Amino acid sequence: MSTKRILVTGGAGFLGSHLCKRLLKEGNEVVCLDNFFTGTKENIKDFFCNPFFELIRHDVTQPILLEVDEIYNLACPASPIHYQYNGIKTIKTSVMGAINMLGMAKRIKAKILQASTSEVYGDPDIHPQPESYWGNVNPIGIRSCYDEGKRCAESLFMNYHRQNNVRIKIMRIFNTYGPNMHPQDGRVVSNFIVQALKGEEITIYGDGRQTRSFCYVDDLIDGMIKLMGTSDKFIGPVNVGNPSEFTIMQLAELVIELTDSKSKIVKLPLPEDDPLQRKPDITLAQKELNWTPKVELRDGLEETISYFKHLLNS
Ligand code: NAD
Ligand code: UDP
Repeated sequence: MSTKRILVTGGAGFLGSHLCKRLLKEGNEVVCLDNFFTGTKENIKDFFCNPFFELIRHDVTQPILLEVDEIYNLACPASPIHYQYNGIKTIKTSVMGAINMLGMAKRIKAKILQASTSEVYGDPDIHPQPESYWGNVNPIGIRSCYDEGKRCAESLFMNYHRQNNVRIKIMRIFNTYGPNMHPQDGRVVSNFIVQALKGEEITIYGDGRQTRSFCYVDDLIDGMIKLMGTSDKFIGPVNVGNPSEFTIMQLAELVIELTDSKSKIVKLPLPEDDPLQRKPDITLAQKELNWTPKVELRDGLEETISYFKHLLNS
């Protein structure tokens, strides 16, 4: 296997840190670029002594020129509380970040993968969601800085591909969880586990009947690397996620059971535009990537709980 130099933007975040680890393990040189908005050095500190790992503190909204073979563009806060903290910045990160990374990919002829999202489907009225579905996104709501930013990034990727023959891959990631999520990340899996371990109330937004499909991070990273490795003809967009669907109430009950917690469930108001259901149709990923998720929710949660137990004790 030949060594590649690979750029991971957002490499100090949850998914980025797992991706850096896998790419290093496979014998590549990894350049991790991050502004540490939601990512941490803690997530990547194990790689600092590896001569094949480089860290650049940089914001993707600013241009940069690097010499790499592949780019994984993950830089963007993914948790609603963080991406809504500064919505304008979130749009700039998705849109200007995509323009800067695509411009670089064009100039140095690198292959580039975009971490897109199931949020491009908004609150879907087709279930499960295939890639051919155009979505139901509120363009002016509080989630739009993220959803529309990511939709615009997909459009930019397609246009750089059509006009400039940039080799692109678009991956629509569905809810993913696992170790290295920040304890204050705000997304549902980390919130529930941290609350259960601390004996605090488990905060269900709304009635808990809304659904999500949770993918364990190892499965997701397998899918991401497979997508980058497919022939240049296959560009996506392709859904990558676990089609096993759970209500948020079921998730809360499972977390309480697995942590053996005495925490009580409380119900809080449902945030605006919170999608009612979400489940990927992964037929395309199965066909084109020969990829299917393997980790059951119960097993993935066990791993994640032991990570947070260790973190909270240290
Ligand atoms: P995360 O918040 O843990 O990681 C994002 C990383 O990007 C962080 O390290 C952050 O500091 C960095 N970043 C943010 N803005 C930046 C900027 N302007 N310049 C440079 N770095 C910046 O989130 P994650 O869960 O690891 O998500 C990674 C990517 O995958 C995101 O693009 C997200 O939209 C996408 N995604 C994730 C999920 C999921 O369930 N985890 C689902 C759909 C899509
Ligand atoms: N959620 C919840 N309690 C929390 C955090 C989230 O009930 O403490 C709900 C949230 O309203 C949504 C679902 O869990 O319906 C998933 O939320 P998350 O922020 O993880 O991701 P997204 O909504 O982007 O899928």
